[in-house]
Amino acid sequence: MSKTAIITGSGRGIGAAIAKRLAKDGFNIVINELSEEAGQQTAEECRALGIKAAVYAADVSDYAQCEEMVKKAKEEFGTLDVLVNNAGITRDGLLLRMSEENYDAVIRINQKSVFNMTKLVGAIMLRQKSGSIVNLASVAGLYGNPGQMNYSASKGAVIAMTKTAAKELGSRGIRVNAVAPGFIQTPMTDKLTDEQKNAILGQIAMKRYGQPEEIANVVAFLCGEDSSYVTGQIIEISGGLSM
Ligand code: NAD
Repeated sequence: MSKTAIITGSGRGIGAAIAKRLAKDGFNIVINELSEEAGQQTAEECRALGIKAAVYAADVSDYAQCEEMVKKAKEEFGTLDVLVNNAGITRDGLLLRMSEENYDAVIRINQKSVFNMTKLVGAIMLRQKSGSIVNLASVAGLYGNPGQMNYSASKGAVIAMTKTAAKELGSRGIRVNAVAPGFIQTPMTDKLTDEQKNAILGQIAMKRYGQPEEIANVVAFLCGEDSSYVTGQIIEISGGLSM
């Protein structure tokens, strides 16, 4: 029976690139998005690679919606072998100007979603005694970033959650790792001003932004058998932003 991967927030950007890369590797793909419409294009592109794909609309910050989605996906696909916690948002602003609402929204979507999905899919993987979970952290979670108190906090937490889940689930054959991307060209970073983009480029050894596919390649390695003895690790993919 073929293996199945569920990728949150995979209607566009890095999540869509991961879905397509895992489809190419032969996984059936469960696409999660806020609306079903937002995930349909990725689903079609995955199906064109010869695998089965389905879209489930759910807000991953909401436990009950995640529960319903994971139940349906398990019924439809039989197993859930890979979970990629990719959905995320930014609500940037300097600390003294950041609203409580923007702080809470980023923590809920970037951090609590990882608790929701790891608990629910982890329970299925525990019964299967196998699985691989990959979380999308960020260089902001490793080093901090001005204007991103909320985002850095959420991604720092994702790093800690990755290590904790790896320690809890390792003896049952489940590996948990994270990638920490630097600046990747997606709708999330398209919002930055030219001034911000130039300042960032100045700090990158390779003097260019990364592409979503360059994140997907490393995620695919962490999902597959080639990384069978790798767990609890945070792999930075930043073109040499920090060394
Ligand atoms: P993006 O904004 O292009 O895509 C994010 C996707 O997540 C969107 O399709 C959105 O609809 C979905 N989403 C948002 N909230 C959701 C929710 N509550 N439930 C379900 N889906 C939801 O972003 P991206 O650049 O592709 O980023 C993907 C991940 O990579 C994020 O976790 C982000 O923090 C992380 N990351 C991105 C960069 C970068 O430079 N782009 C750098 C470091 C880390």
